Amino acid sequence: MIPVKEARDIVLGRIPMLGAERVELFSALGRVLAEDVLAPYDVPPHNNSAMDGYAVRSEDVKRASRDNPVVLEVIEDLPAGYISQQPVGKQQAIRIMTGAAIPEGADAVVRVEETARGEGKSVLIFKEVPPRCDMRLAGEDIRQGEIVLQKGKLIRPAEIGLLASLGRSSIQVYQRAQVAILSTGDELVNIDEPLQPGKIINSNSYSLAALVLETGAIPIQLDIAKDTRADLEEKFSHGLRADVIISSGGVSVGDYDLVKDILNKSGSEMQFWKVCMKPGKPQAFGSIAGKPTFGLPGNPVSSMVSYEIFVRPALLKMMGYTRIYRSVVSATIEEDMKKTDKRKHFVRVILRNEHGKYIASTTGAQGSGILSSMSKANGLAVIEEERMIVRVGENVPVMVLDESLGISETRDF
Ligand code: AMP
Ligand code: MG
Repeated sequence: MIPVKEARDIVLGRIPMLGAERVELFSALGRVLAEDVLAPYDVPPHNNSAMDGYAVRSEDVKRASRDNPVVLEVIEDLPAGYISQQPVGKQQAIRIMTGAAIPEGADAVVRVEETARGEGKSVLIFKEVPPRCDMRLAGEDIRQGEIVLQKGKLIRPAEIGLLASLGRSSIQVYQRAQVAILSTGDELVNIDEPLQPGKIINSNSYSLAALVLETGAIPIQLDIAKDTRADLEEKFSHGLRADVIISSGGVSVGDYDLVKDILNKSGSEMQFWKVCMKPGKPQAFGSIAGKPTFGLPGNPVSSMVSYEIFVRPALLKMMGYTRIYRSVVSATIEEDMKKTDKRKHFVRVILRNEHGKYIASTTGAQGSGILSSMSKANGLAVIEEERMIVRVGENVPVMVLDESLGISETRDF
């Protein structure tokens, strides 16, 4: 049995980074940039007005005040999106709208509130303004040639907008991992098959595919494999078109648990088999024909928990993410938690925030087949190997499974 941390280091050390692909801008949302993005031009591209008002020469309006307005000749009306036809000369002004390019000759804007229309084509200026007043300068947001977004950056709506402002209608991002999901077991039937005596529905294929989707990767659900070497070999081979293979079941010590035999065959490799954790002790990791392969446990809760601990960070790493772990918070527990072994336990809990403090209560029975308790849970409390009992009122780290709780703290455990 190897410790969870060691097992995860092995996984993360063995997982390859995926290549890049070019996608349309919108499709890049939530993905990771695989190129440095340089600015092809200044943003904003030209000096422009931050206000509705008058573009003036600041020297012309020196000492202007309500009592002593400066009168300027208005030579043009300039809406946003147009360029002035003529420069602003001495004692002249151009009426300008927010966003319009500052005309040549002008070096400041006087807000409309500080002016009044004068006789004929003139304006009264009531305020002295310094050079560059109420102007947005060319390149003040982004300079031409600057690295605007670095490779590895997570693309959120702000980045989509930024990329759009640079004219980037497509962008290089890391590929999404294709993940083959193989359920093993003679007892399994497909979701729409009649449930004969002794059979159960292959629910792992769905929970795992949903987890893969939630991770931002692409699930490929393979046909169920029977508990025979031949069928397992064949079905595993169908997974080789994916980037990663996940199986569930058949990895324990029973006579029909043959997944580790597949990982021990020539051309394959098994890095570890038993991990010091609960649930999920028997589980394997290795590769088949070079493809990283996770042999997850069959029990529905164990397979989901093992996915959380090993597969999710591995897929995120492959897809270029730097934040690969769930948020972890320290929560006070509401009932004693006792352990009878020195494994690391992951206890399904309901986490809540009361007056800024996190409180966790278990979802009840923790059997590894009780999937309904996984559905009640929004966190996994982590009880370290050496800690045999945690008493009411003590704290434990809790991995947050439901990010909608709005918890942003993140750390490894
Ligand atoms: P195994 O490790 O293959 O012995 O599987 C352990 C238990 O997990 C089985 O007895 C089933 O009850 C359950 N199980 C295994 N595979 C699945 C699956 N794909 N969907 C739902 N339950 C499963
Ligand atoms: Mg089985």
